Amino acid sequence: MKKDTSNKSERDIIKYISNLFRFPADSPVINGIGDDCAVLRKDGKSCFLVTTDTLVESVHFELAWHPPFLLGRKTGAVNLSDIAAMGGQPRFALLNMAFPGSAPSWLDDFLAGFHEILQEYGTLLVGGDTVKSSNDLSITVTIIGEAAEDIICYRSGAVKDDLVFVSGFLGDAAAGLALCQSGLSSHGLGQWQQLIKAHLDPQPQVQLGKILAESGLVHAMMDISDGLATDLAHICAESGTAAEVIKEDLPVSGQMTAAAGKLEKPVLDWALKGGEDYQLLFTVSPDHEEDLCNLVHEKTGQQIFCIGKIIEGQGVFLSDTLQREEVSFQGYDHFTAWKS
Ligand SMILES: [Mg+2]
Repeated sequence: MKKDTSNKSERDIIKYISNLFRFPADSPVINGIGDDCAVLRKDGKSCFLVTTDTLVESVHFELAWHPPFLLGRKTGAVNLSDIAAMGGQPRFALLNMAFPGSAPSWLDDFLAGFHEILQEYGTLLVGGDTVKSSNDLSITVTIIGEAAEDIICYRSGAVKDDLVFVSGFLGDAAAGLALCQSGLSSHGLGQWQQLIKAHLDPQPQVQLGKILAESGLVHAMMDISDGLATDLAHICAESGTAAEVIKEDLPVSGQMTAAAGKLEKPVLDWALKGGEDYQLLFTVSPDHEEDLCNLVHEKTGQQIFCIGKIIEGQGVFLSDTLQREEVSFQGYDHFTAWKS
C-alpha cells in the first residue's frame, strides 16, 4: 500500500525510503541508509565509505554573496565532512550539475574551487554528469572514501555516561549566513571574517576524524550539518540513549556573540539549531576523556569541547542551573524548515 509522504519531515522521508530498500543478509553492505556514509565491504580488512549531497541554488547557496570559487570549495567540503565523520580517508569524487539554460559564466571559478579542495584532501574527480534543468541550478557531489573496518565510527555507538564532545565553535556558520543575508557582510568584512568564512568556506575535519577513529576511544561520531539539536538527536536515536547538554559549556566564539547582539538574534539559536558548522560531534567514555584530549592536542594543537553527557532515555535536553528543556530535532529540516 502506498503511504502518503506529503508533510513529512526529512527524517520521516529517509526512514520511509530506507524501509522500502532492504539488503539481503549476505550483501556487502555493512551499513546502508541512516549514517553519514554508507559502509560497503571492500575486502577482509577495509571498507568503502560513500556519501552524496545536493546543493540547490537559493536553498543551499546564494550567488549574490557566495563567490563561485568558494562555492566550489564548499560543495566539496560538505561531502568530505561526511567521510571525516566516520573516520575515513576520502579518495574519489563524482560531480553532477543541472543548469537551467547553458553552463553559467562562473563555472570555471566554481570548478577551480572544487578542484582545489579535492586536491587538499587527496581526492580525485573520476566522473559525473551535466544536464539541462527546467528550473533550478543544482549540484550533486558523491565522494567515495576508505577506512579500516574496525576503526569506523557510527552514530549508533554512544553508551550511557559517555561524555559528548564537539570539535569547535557552534553557530559561526549560521551567524555568517545571517550577516550575508542582512547585507552586513560587505561592511566590515574584517570584523566578521571568521563567521563569513565559516559560512562560505567551511573546513572539513578529515584529519581530526581519522585521529579520533584510529584512537579507538570514540564510541559514536557524526558531523554537524543540521545543527547540534538535530545531529545529537540522531546519535541518541541510533544509540537508544538520551543526552544532556550543558548550556554554558557550548563553545561559542566572541565574533558570533557580537554578531548576535548586532542582529538582535539569540546566541543559543545559532549554536543549537544553526547547522552547517561541519564540526565533529562525538562521544567518549569519561575514563578516556583526558587521554583523548591529550592525543588531539598533541597531534593537531586543537582544543575539543565537552558539552554534556549521554544519559538513559530518549531525546536531547538542554540544561542550565534554572531549567531543563527538550531540544531534540530542533535544527534544520528541509521539509519543516527552521528559519533564522
Ligand atoms: Mg553528515
